[in-house]
Amino acid sequence: MLKVFVDQDLCISCGLCISICDEVFFWNDDDKAQAIDSDVPEEFIDDVNEAVESCPTDAIQYEEE
Ligand code: SF4
Repeated sequence: MLKVFVDQDLCISCGLCISICDEVFFWNDDDKAQAIDSDVPEEFIDDVNEAVESCPTDAIQYEEE
């Protein structure tokens, strides 16, 4: 199981994670990226890993269970 979180202080709203995987990442009311609360569905894990590696500020953190 994999959960992801976006550190709101680090996100610079570049939109990369959302363009890579808009099933998991979305814009919140503060115009920052946010991740779904639930576990990342299996089929999106590769995309989420790509987003984690691509984020310019390392704002995406994850937790594996
Ligand atoms: S890639 Fe990183 S900085 Fe860009 S919107 Fe996503 S979390 Fe924010």
